[in-house]
Amino acid sequence: MIDSHCHLEQKDYDPDREEVILNCKKELKAVVTCCAHMRDFNKSLEIIKKYPNFVFLTAGFHPEYISEVPENKINKYFEELAKNKKYLVGIGECGMDYHWVKEPEWREKQKELFVKHINLAKELNLPLVIHSRDAEKECLEILKEQKAKRVLLHYFSDKDLIPEVIETSYFVSVNTSVFRSKTTKKIIKKTPIEKLMTETDAPWLGFGKRNTPLSVKLVAEKIAEIKKLSFEEVDKITTENAVKFFGLMN
Ligand SMILES: [Zn+2]
Repeated sequence: MIDSHCHLEQKDYDPDREEVILNCKKELKAVVTCCAHMRDFNKSLEIIKKYPNFVFLTAGFHPEYISEVPENKINKYFEELAKNKKYLVGIGECGMDYHWVKEPEWREKQKELFVKHINLAKELNLPLVIHSRDAEKECLEILKEQKAKRVLLHYFSDKDLIPEVIETSYFVSVNTSVFRSKTTKKIIKKTPIEKLMTETDAPWLGFGKRNTPLSVKLVAEKIAEIKKLSFEEVDKITTENAVKFFGLMN
C-alpha cells in the first residue's frame, strides 16, 4: 500500500518524525510526501534522503499561498526544483484554490502559476499532482488546454466531473474524507479502480487528531467495501497505479 499524498515535513511531525516513518515502513510500501512551499523544500529533501526508496518527494507551490510570495521568489524556487530533479517523483501540489482565494486578480495569478508548473513538469518529464479545491472544472480545463498527460487529481471533490476525468489518462487519489463525505464515496464508486490511488493528506484529515500515512489502510478498506472488491485487490491495484505513475522503485 502506498500513501500517494501527505506532508511529512509539517511541524506536527517534528517531535517524532523518525518513529512515524519507521512505523509506516513496517506496513506500507512507500510514502509520497508533498512539499507545497519553498520554505519547506530543504527540510523535505533531508527527509527523503534519510529514507531512500521509501519516502519519495513531489514539490510545487500551493495555490492557496499565491498572494504571500513575490514572483521572483517563485522563479528561484523553480530553478531549485529543476536542479534537484533527481530527488523528485512529481511536480505539485499545484493548481487552483477558489475556496481560500476569492479575488479575481489572485485567481488569475493562480492560473498563470499553474501553467508554469505544467510546463516545468513537461520540461523535467515528471507527473503532476493537482490541488483543485472549488476549482475542479477550471483545473481540468487548463490541464487539457495545456495537454498535460500524467496527472494525479489529489483529493478531487467534484463527482459530476468524474465521467470527464475517466475520458482522460488522469488518476484520482482519495483519502479519509470518505468517512464523512458522500461525494468522496460517489467518486470512489464512479472511478474505475485502475484510475484510483490511496492518499491521506496527513497530518490533516485525521478525525480531529494528527493523521499519519498509516490511515491509507482505512481508505483501502473503504474502497474495497464501496467497490465490492477484496482488500487485497484494492491494495495490489492502487499500489501498482502509484508505482507506475510516479516511477517508484526503478
Ligand atoms: Zn496536500
